[in-house]
Amino acid sequence: MAPSESRKRILTGVRPTGALHLGHYVGALENWIRLQREYECFFLIADYQVSDYADDFQRVRDSIFEVALDWLAVGLDPEGSHFLIESGVPEHAELTQWLSWWVPLGMLERNPTLKAEMADLELRHSVPVAFFNYPMMQVANILMPKAHLVPVGEDQLPHIELTREVARRFNRIFERDVFPEPEPLIGRIPRLVGTDGDAKMSKSKNNAIFLGDDAETVMLKVRSMYTDPTRLRATDPGHVEGNPVFMYHDAFNPNLDEVNDLKERYVLGKVGDVEVKTKLAAALNTFLAPIREKRAYYEAHPNLVREALMAGTTHARTVAQATMLEVRDAMRINYLG
Ligand code: ATP
Ligand code: MG
Repeated sequence: MAPSESRKRILTGVRPTGALHLGHYVGALENWIRLQREYECFFLIADYQVSDYADDFQRVRDSIFEVALDWLAVGLDPEGSHFLIESGVPEHAELTQWLSWWVPLGMLERNPTLKAEMADLELRHSVPVAFFNYPMMQVANILMPKAHLVPVGEDQLPHIELTREVARRFNRIFERDVFPEPEPLIGRIPRLVGTDGDAKMSKSKNNAIFLGDDAETVMLKVRSMYTDPTRLRATDPGHVEGNPVFMYHDAFNPNLDEVNDLKERYVLGKVGDVEVKTKLAAALNTFLAPIREKRAYYEAHPNLVREALMAGTTHARTVAQATMLEVRDAMRINYLG
């Protein structure tokens, strides 16, 4: 894409804590793929925001590559968009520092996503100071390229609300329209459940089907999926509502006749879990086959992955430097010219 861009901007991202899964696809990636021509997209790998993995930096390092691989595999195009590593643009840290001046502690303490994640984390580790502040980094990520739209899963909504609030405050205090107020865009499935029936499929919860999983692994994961706990035999009437196996059928099986037939027979107690799950695994494998194939291609050509990250990060840094000039100018901290 030409350097003189006129498209509106998207900024969105992922934490480098593992490879990507079906939840990322329906919650976020699907929108990114659809909008990548219409918007100038900044796809960010948030390696400043993984302080809960401070004891496993190798995982962070490996995951940066895995995430970029998954992006290429699903069809994100680094020619028209920018793949960037957050720490390669250290201006993000600088902007986070300035912006945190205008956010009262209570606003972070009330953030429901942060609260839930910290409670989870407390069960496993102590909570690092940096984890508490990660929503502020997200604010800086979004405001840095002055993004208009942020396509994300539902759990990110409180952070985007915080971003809008910070943008308003900054513009009001310095009496300039530096930052637009970004809009969120939630995916087709706002929050995909985990294979274990947990409310969210998550890299860190061991309940995910990954985009790179092979056919056999998908079959095994589906076979051990949580279904309807009230149904003991195939002849018992079952529940479709709230049943993760049917939620996945709805999300990934394009054969509506097959899905409806399975649902009808399930509530009547006329189909066993084995058939429902075998058909789900087949549908998932059909969906994942082309992604897997592209992933294998890029895995065999790691230079393409590195080049995409290098080019995107370099470009994002020039954008960030331009924004920081404006920020410093607005704040009158341009003491040194
Ligand atoms: P972790 O729990 O290990 O932090 P994560 O799966 O939450 O990992 P993120 O990097 O925090 O991954 O999320 C990247 C994007 O994917 C966000 O927009 C998030 O909302 C979305 N997302 C992640 N999991 C799901 C899910 N199960 N359903 C819908 N969207 C999801
Ligand atoms: Mg998360």
